[in-house]
This record gives sequence, structure tokens and C-alpha cells, in this order.
Amino acid sequence: MLRIHEVPVTPFQQNCTILVCEETGEAAICDCGDAQPVLERLRQLGVKPVKILSTHGHLDHIGGTAALQDALGLPFWFPSGDDFWRLALPQQAQTYGFPAVRVPEPDHDLCDGDVVEIGHCRLDVIHCPGHTPGHVVLHDAQGKQLIAGDVLFRGSIGRTDFPRGSFKDLERSIRERLYVLPPETEVHCGHGPATTIGHESRTNPFVRL
Ligand SMILES: [Zn+2]
Repeated sequence: MLRIHEVPVTPFQQNCTILVCEETGEAAICDCGDAQPVLERLRQLGVKPVKILSTHGHLDHIGGTAALQDALGLPFWFPSGDDFWRLALPQQAQTYGFPAVRVPEPDHDLCDGDVVEIGHCRLDVIHCPGHTPGHVVLHDAQGKQLIAGDVLFRGSIGRTDFPRGSFKDLERSIRERLYVLPPETEVHCGHGPATTIGHESRTNPFVRL
């Protein structure tokens, strides 16, 4: 069973997640926008971190990743479709008035259909472009849980007004790749509270079934 712990980071209150295989205590860190609070939470949980993941290349999702790599010496999985955002990290930090950050170097790509293993748990990688072109979400089919990044929020959806964003792509991603999942699937969003696929497919004001 995969247990998901949320750690809100950065002034954007981005939900970094620590994904723990309860049987083995192995853990992955997803969307580390700031390393310090995440390292503290890892210590409190007493888990064994094994890998770092990201859903996409925005500052609040990867800004703390190079520091986390330094501290833990772990491999980093990142969707290469968002490399232009990753490489623009210093400019993103400047634009939003963040302290200077280093660009993290991925060890592995995250492609549609890939499976990420954490202990005995498996996450399916689903490509969901629109908010950014390379954006992926991570689906725990067995536990009916989803790490949605900035694709779908409770009562909202990701912004599409950034460079290379597309509402048409985002709408298709949500309709054809997320709303086809079991309605009881719990959705952990990049910002704000969690929701479920069923709640959003019935009530989301931007994209409904
Ligand atoms: Zn984003």
C-alpha cells in the first residue's frame, strides 16, 4: 500500500508529496519545490528515500530538487518534454523573486506508459499535456490514488496561459486520460485540497464529462 504525505512548499503553497511503500518503508519525493521542509519531514517519517520525481518543470515543483539531490544523492526522474522549463529555472526564480536556484539534472525520463517502482508499489506514468507540454501525472492503480500536479484541482484546472500551454490539450488530457479512471480515485493536487475523479467529472466548472 502506498501512503501519500503532502508537504506544502514555497510561497505558492505547492504540495510536494512523499510517497511511501508501507511494507518496505521506501519512499519517493515528488515535486520538490524547496528541499528544507521536505528533508525535515523525511526525518520525522523515518522512511528510506530512494528516488526523486517531478510532474513538470515549473519553479514551485522543481526549485528545491538540486538541493535535495545534493543532500540525499538520489536519482531524478523528469519528463524531458519540459526540459525548456527546467533549463529556464534561473529565469523563473528571477521573475517570481525567489532566491537563486540551480538547475537539477535528470537521470531518467518519465514517458507515457512507464512504470515507477517504490518498494512493492507501482505508479503508472500518464502524459497529460496542456498546463505544460511535458506534464505527467502518476497513478497508483492499486490504491486508487493520483498525483495530478497542475493538471486538475478541486473545482479548477491548471493555467494554460504560460508559453506552450494549451487549453485544448489540457481539456483533452483531463477528459480522455483522467476522467476515465475509477470515480473513487483520490486526486492529490499540486495546489489546494485533494479531490476525487468522480467529484470533478460531475462538478468541475471548466471540464466536465
Ligand atoms: Zn505548474
